[in-house]
Amino acid sequence: MSQCDYKGCTSEATTKGYVLGHKRGSGDKDNFHHVNACDKHKQKEGFFEDRERPANIN
Ligand SMILES: [Zn+2]
Repeated sequence: MSQCDYKGCTSEATTKGYVLGHKRGSGDKDNFHHVNACDKHKQKEGFFEDRERPANIN
């Protein structure tokens, strides 16, 4: 499993999901971005856990 994608977080990711936001350089439109999240960050508001897929899919 890879590292949590949340900024400044160095924990190991335990799940995958999506956050709504815009990536730098990808325009102004908000979109869902695929991210890895640790136990702490998966509970954060704005994170949508992807329960439909196995955790090791990329
Ligand atoms: Zn984290």
